[in-house]
Amino acid sequence: MSNLRFKVLQEAFAKKAVAVQPPAGMVSDYYGSHIFGRKQMARYLSAETYRAFCDVLDNGAPFNREMANNVAVGMKNWALDMGATHYTHWFQPLTEGTAEKHDAFIEYAGQPGSDVIEEFSGKLLAQQEADGSSFPNGGIRNTFEARGYTAWDTTSPAFMVDDTLCIPTVFVSYTGEALDYKTPLLKALHAVDRAATEVCRLFDPTVHKVYSYLGWEQEYFLVDESIYSARPDLLLTGRTLLGHESAKNQQLEDHYFGAIPARVQSFMKELEFEAYKYAIPCKTRHNEVAPNQFELAPIYNETNLAVDQNLILMSLMHKIASRHGFKVLLHEKPFAGVNGSGKHCNWSLGTDTGVGLLTPGKTPEENLRFVTFLVNVMMAVKKHNALLKASIMTATNAHRLGAQEAPPSIISVFLGSQLSAVLDQLENADKEQAIVLDEKRRMQLGVAHIPEVLVDNTDRNRTSPFAFTGNRFEFRAVGSCANCAGAMTTLNAAVAEQLIAFKEDVEKEIAKGKKVPVAIMDALKPIIKSVIDTVCFDGNGYTEEWKKEAERRGLDIETNVPKMFCQFTKPASVEMFTKTGVYSEKELEARNDVKWETYVKKVQIESRVMVRMALNHIVPAALEYKGKLLKEVMLAKEIYGNLDNCTTELRILDDINKYVEAVRVKATAMKEARKKANVIEDTYKRALAYHEIAESLYDLRKPIDKLEEVVDNKMWPLPKYRELLFIS
Ligand code: ADP
Ligand code: MG
Repeated sequence: MSNLRFKVLQEAFAKKAVAVQPPAGMVSDYYGSHIFGRKQMARYLSAETYRAFCDVLDNGAPFNREMANNVAVGMKNWALDMGATHYTHWFQPLTEGTAEKHDAFIEYAGQPGSDVIEEFSGKLLAQQEADGSSFPNGGIRNTFEARGYTAWDTTSPAFMVDDTLCIPTVFVSYTGEALDYKTPLLKALHAVDRAATEVCRLFDPTVHKVYSYLGWEQEYFLVDESIYSARPDLLLTGRTLLGHESAKNQQLEDHYFGAIPARVQSFMKELEFEAYKYAIPCKTRHNEVAPNQFELAPIYNETNLAVDQNLILMSLMHKIASRHGFKVLLHEKPFAGVNGSGKHCNWSLGTDTGVGLLTPGKTPEENLRFVTFLVNVMMAVKKHNALLKASIMTATNAHRLGAQEAPPSIISVFLGSQLSAVLDQLENADKEQAIVLDEKRRMQLGVAHIPEVLVDNTDRNRTSPFAFTGNRFEFRAVGSCANCAGAMTTLNAAVAEQLIAFKEDVEKEIAKGKKVPVAIMDALKPIIKSVIDTVCFDGNGYTEEWKKEAERRGLDIETNVPKMFCQFTKPASVEMFTKTGVYSEKELEARNDVKWETYVKKVQIESRVMVRMALNHIVPAALEYKGKLLKEVMLAKEIYGNLDNCTTELRILDDINKYVEAVRVKATAMKEARKKANVIEDTYKRALAYHEIAESLYDLRKPIDKLEEVVDNKMWPLPKYRELLFIS
């Protein structure tokens, strides 16, 4: 058959699972083999350099050029032993994914023209000029000063991909502004470390550092590569812009946690083997709710490392999928009518003394500390709920949020009934009752002990975008293709700001002559009241009532993506980000420009692809079927002399005419809307115009999906939902 759809379907059905050989030995034998971690450093650095470098990593000791040179030599030797020929500064520009520019290790040994040797100095390791005026910068780099620099992030280990040594770096402009995701993240982590350490020391003066931890859960779809290649929308936008729902999709809930299909199983195995080589501790894998949807989650890690690992994993996924004849879809909403994909970010804070600050304790002191961090995080989420939402919003994630399966587009906190009850009690207890110091000066918390069951809390609320799940918060609104650094930067910075304010409150109470625990409790009470009345919500986040109630409580209910980005430059956000040293106002403005620009481009591409598919694929297929029906009708007239036997054909023809005309009208209108939007000078206003176009994509889709119901299956040119979602 000449129809491309049937050709690719045949190809897909013929594919078998690819055999995967596990690497030799146990996981612990090859775990981390492709990173320049401690084990490798111990082997390739002198004992002195190794110790000094560990001191840099563990205690932030100063780092000099000589040490950089010594580390560079060791790193180069390791990389050469791993078969490296090139190295690259690996960074995270404000696009999706990562960027790299490869340089060979070779240098002339002597004069120009002499033989070459493998060279790599501390200078090359530590800093490079990355021209890249083509990376988005929001006008920070004028053309006359287009220089940008990448600088080594010593805290994240270098790693080998194929023949290239990749060195994690930050990317900043000549004038010092961040042009990437990593720079502000590192600043936010530093801010939350300092602020949380100060608060911790109210409880335990031996705490010197607080780590931010992130455990992401990566959701994704797998689609057969042949079938994928016959869908221009998937190819160019990562999602299906049209397609009628499959008769069966996820309603039987038979995919979730079901048996993993053989081809997928092979893919997952190989992905995990590879991930282990990069010290990504993959822990769980399972089917997700939608057909052909899956999830992978590692054990949590320090946030900066976890972010880098997620980026490495996403690129591994693309590479390995092609070996198994699949395409990975990381888009948040590749298919209408079935669940979209998120990247839940499980987040917590922990001390260098090994204490989880969001883990309920056993003693009243420990529980006071737990409650302190719990409610301060909630206060930060309350104060910056609109900004947090803005931090996860993109053109692609917009399709997922607010839909019936995903977090609603109102950021609230789910605590569960037990913990809510504890907070209620604390809020309502009299001063004397809340905290009592007994004669031995031990503390009593005047509320029922915080139950231990909380630790393995199973009280789940899937509709909450920011849920407390026993020893961490789960920020569920983050999109599956996002760099989690964006959300993590805002969250950690907001928490840092709140902890700074809290420490000041406690100090004021202490200055009144109160004992520390009493001062803490008195500083906490108004915060508890404030969060209970606003951001705390244990009900169903999908209902219309909640939307109204949330608005009454002062929570943000905006869903217009370009408008939401304005949150970043609101006074309260600028104050928070500058106070914590995370972004300057200039950086925030520049980043908004980049976001609006990216939004416009994404919607513009979708709209172009949609119109072309409508006019070049759908309308011709419908007209072909129409021609066939017309011929049949003509023939009937010839034979029977009337159209009495043609009611079905005529009905179908009416439908086709109606829908084809609707497609033509809507597609033409969309083109016109684009033309108008394109000449709007102001980036923000242009993005607002494109928001309207984004909305009208749904509208153009409707008559197309109707046609799919009507047109002869043999003539339909594009793989259908059932083929995309059920073949693997
Ligand atoms: P669920 O199905 O409950 O969402 P998963 O097992 O899929 O859970 O993922 C839970 C994620 O949370 C894992 O990445 C896990 O490592 C992470 N996690 C567990 N405890 C913490 C913590 N204290 N801080 C940060 N992340 C955590
Ligand atoms: Mg989860």
